[in-house]
Amino acid sequence: MFMGGEAKMYDVLVIGAGPGGGSAALHAARAGLSTLIVEADPEVGTPVHCGECLSELAVENLDLEIPDHVKALDVKGIRVIFPDGTEKLLTEKGYVLEKHLFERWLCDEAIKEGAELSLHHRVTSMERIFNSENQFSYWKIDGKGEGFPLECKSVIDASGVSGAASKLLDMGTEVEVIAGFQYEILDVKNDGYLDFYLWPKYSPHGYVWMIPKEGGRANVGLVTTDKKGAIKYLNSFIQDTYLDGKPTVNPPWRPDGVKVRPFGGTIPISGPRSVTVGDGLILVGDAAGFTSPLFEGGSHLALWSGREAAKTIASALQSESILSKDQLMDYEKAWKKTFPPYSKILKGKTALYELTDDEMSIMARCLPEELGNMSPLQKVAIGLRILVRKPMLFTKSVIHVLLSFGYSRAKFFGW
Ligand SMILES: Cc1cc2nc3c(=O)[nH]c(=O)nc-3n(C[C@H](O)[C@H](O)[C@H](O)COP(=O)(O)OP(=O)(O)OC[C@H]3O[C@@H](n4cnc5c(N)ncnc54)[C@H](O)[C@@H]3O)c2cc1C
Repeated sequence: MFMGGEAKMYDVLVIGAGPGGGSAALHAARAGLSTLIVEADPEVGTPVHCGECLSELAVENLDLEIPDHVKALDVKGIRVIFPDGTEKLLTEKGYVLEKHLFERWLCDEAIKEGAELSLHHRVTSMERIFNSENQFSYWKIDGKGEGFPLECKSVIDASGVSGAASKLLDMGTEVEVIAGFQYEILDVKNDGYLDFYLWPKYSPHGYVWMIPKEGGRANVGLVTTDKKGAIKYLNSFIQDTYLDGKPTVNPPWRPDGVKVRPFGGTIPISGPRSVTVGDGLILVGDAAGFTSPLFEGGSHLALWSGREAAKTIASALQSESILSKDQLMDYEKAWKKTFPPYSKILKGKTALYELTDDEMSIMARCLPEELGNMSPLQKVAIGLRILVRKPMLFTKSVIHVLLSFGYSRAKFFGW
């Protein structure tokens, strides 16, 4: 971090080496900006806190070919399974990743482009330095690890759900979170689809997933608002389904000898933070509150927003050496224009979770095999079918539910 004993002034400091941070650093370094990533953990990518699925479209946002060793399976899409067993598809290509290897590879690509990486470095304080005219000039950043304090013209906060900048700067924006956990299970067959079970009995206000990998491995997990009961629900799902009795193991990144236990974390579910840009500052990924409302995927949004943040800073630095909030507002405009309508999807999700098991299944039976590409005519036909079978469902905003399925596709950053 130091050159000849003098502190170096970085163009960009990226907090966190997850998908958001890796993407931000890659694109900042590519644009010729001096870039430092600081990551609190001693290695990139572990512990994994992700189901590890990512659409092909998300990867395209990196403008990079992903290597085979980071892929655990090429997949055809998502199969949504309703309480009575009715199955519907959201077919579109993607991958199940070895997410820690993906994140390491992404950081390595950023390093190849000239970025620096400091592991086991946690940012603990951020101070804006102002010039004699009281305008923001640069950042003084302190933290745990050698090389602090350091100076930089801009910060991209990619620190995930913990939201380092929002907390350290007391930005006054809170996020609501949901808990997610999973086991690695062996001997699980797959046909190339990710299975998402909308079975409220096993995951109140959430869903259960089986995300397959090559060689019969699978991540089996859930998200639920009932954080305390999450592991109990997951164990019951496994016991009551075809997964019962299959070997549950630790994922390969966990050291040998550790007792088998689930892995996971929390996911922001209250939508984008009200402030994502400040003087010399851009929030990306989970740190900005960006997750897809229905199935809570966030890696695509993190990759996209990391790239957009880097591009915005690179473009602003071409004309100014000091980055005020106004100069970075293009970032906020870009994500507001590009991301799907959060509140509408959330309305659909709320409506979905208000349905009883029975109502959910009746609705599902009225849907076409493919949920992703419903034409306006098909939507009218579905509406008529629901009207005949259960008119009550209309009062339960079932149309919003259908919309939220559509918005869970990759092109709307669903995964
Ligand atoms: C159980 C579960 C399953 C999920 N499944 C999927 C899925 O299948 N597909 C999908 O797209 N999304 C999934 N998600 C969501 C996805 O994991 C996140 O949206 C995504 O990782 C966000 O990326 P990010 O780069 O913003 O943050 P993160 O991946 O959280 O990375 C943030 C990094 O910042 C570091 N950091 C934090 N604070 C500091 C600090 N002060 N100083 C330095 N470093 C710091 C952290 O150590 C971390 O490495 C899942 C989440 C959970 C919990």
